[in-house]
Amino acid sequence: MICSCHQTAWTWAVTVARSSPWSSTSIGPTTSSFDGTLKDMGLSAQPAIHVARKVSGAYATLTANIQAGNLGKPGSKRRQATEGKPIRFRRDAAQPFDDRCLSWQLAARTVSIWTVAGRSGPIRFGCSDQQHALLLAHRRGESDLVRRDGKWFLYATCDIPDAPTKEPDGFLGVDLGIANLATDSDGRHYCGKATNRVRHRNQRLRAKLQAIGTKSAKRLLKKRRRKESRFAADTNHRIAKSIVTEAERTGRGIALEDLGGIRDRVRLRRPQRVTLHSWAFHQLGQYIAYQAKRSAVAVVHVDPAYTSQGCSTCGHVAKANRPNQSTFHCRSCGFAEHADRNAARNIAARGVTGWAAVSLPNAA
Ligand SMILES: [Zn+2]
Repeated sequence: MICSCHQTAWTWAVTVARSSPWSSTSIGPTTSSFDGTLKDMGLSAQPAIHVARKVSGAYATLTANIQAGNLGKPGSKRRQATEGKPIRFRRDAAQPFDDRCLSWQLAARTVSIWTVAGRSGPIRFGCSDQQHALLLAHRRGESDLVRRDGKWFLYATCDIPDAPTKEPDGFLGVDLGIANLATDSDGRHYCGKATNRVRHRNQRLRAKLQAIGTKSAKRLLKKRRRKESRFAADTNHRIAKSIVTEAERTGRGIALEDLGGIRDRVRLRRPQRVTLHSWAFHQLGQYIAYQAKRSAVAVVHVDPAYTSQGCSTCGHVAKANRPNQSTFHCRSCGFAEHADRNAARNIAARGVTGWAAVSLPNAA
């Protein structure tokens, strides 16, 4: 039921956007006049506001993008193409609702939503007890209604205040990699083989589906991609959690590589390159930083240059220190260690210096 009402509202949005005279270089119509037009066309107040906000928001974003030069220089082909035609809205695009248009009855685990046909609900929603507790304590602001693979999802925003960061007693260094997704400076490896196997299997399957190229193959392809990214996100969450728990237990902070330039820096054979790109590589670093923040664990991002070639005992840097993917053997002092752990130890050491640099100005 929500489905049809909801889609009707968006058909309105598309219709109105197409027939309106504004150019994409202005921010679009003022919300109030647009509201009036929609009401005249038969939409009730709340959905009309909702539609107007979404449309003007889309134009504001486009204008900002054009001004920031994200769509090329003035007069460029790409820019002219976007400037020349109105924004189109997908039927399934995520729809933001504020608390006036969507109300949560958390205790009853239901929501009420404004639709074209008026208020709809209460509608039951499903979530885990843990998520429910989080919603009760921290839900604020807008919720997004999303339709995916025929199912409806509501994305709630939870505004969780940061706990003040604890002064770390040393740092746990984390090296993010390919064979092992993560290795810490204590020598623990996190979950490489099993996840890589799943990825490779999926890659082969995707190649097959791509070759078929029919509509249903494409649909299946999209579904597989989502499933894989859920799997990646889930794995990353679990790895991040065990790293943060370990740092918290031992009173340490976490040192991570600043991953800004990872794709330029890492040179790999082709099969590994595919793995690196498809794996949500940055995601793991983001999850660790995010979960650490929630647990009041200090996080420092360090310069990743030469962490894999430098000796974590004597500091000697040489390409020859690392004869292959997994071995580190210092040519100067003879120190030998798993290459990833040696890198993690370097990262941990840089974390200590990095932390001193950021915390000093605060102390003064
Ligand atoms: Zn050495």
